[in-house]
Amino acid sequence: MEKILISGCLLGQKVRYHGSDALCNHPAIAEWIKENIIISICPEVSAGLPVPRPSCEIVGGDGYDVLRGIAKVISHLKIDRTAAFILGANNALNLVKKHKIKIAILKNHSPSCGNNIYDGTYSGKIIKGFGTTAALLQKNSVRVFNESEIDDAVEYLKTLNAKNLSILK
Ligand code: SF4
Repeated sequence: MEKILISGCLLGQKVRYHGSDALCNHPAIAEWIKENIIISICPEVSAGLPVPRPSCEIVGGDGYDVLRGIAKVISHLKIDRTAAFILGANNALNLVKKHKIKIAILKNHSPSCGNNIYDGTYSGKIIKGFGTTAALLQKNSVRVFNESEIDDAVEYLKTLNAKNLSILK
């Protein structure tokens, strides 16, 4: 069975910047917990950032641009957190490599996990673009879904498992 990487906050871990979680009650997650196929991480906490912590946005692009060195992750207190966000992304990538993970469900709108993000102006405007962890995982062939796309993730997981079965036959 394929394993799935899931943002810790979607599993109820109180790791978000404001000290709360973003528990997702989709029944597929309960199934995956029973099947013991979930690997979880909070990239920001894994990089040593505290809970709670100042919120951050990506300024000058998205996570791909952060990885290219042309955008930065800046907290609302104007502190540059780019290095911690890149470290957190690499921590997630290490888990993915260790468990041969090809699919992730990551919390949307986060500058680490999102597959849509805030625009870097702290005005509440959402733009298309990936968080730093989401971008690094996608660059490494992991398909990233957000918590509104779990039905799609379920279908994708079925195709991965079917492919694995056909290889075994
Ligand atoms: Fe959740 Fe990801 Fe933010 Fe951690 S970094 S709180 S897992 S969205």
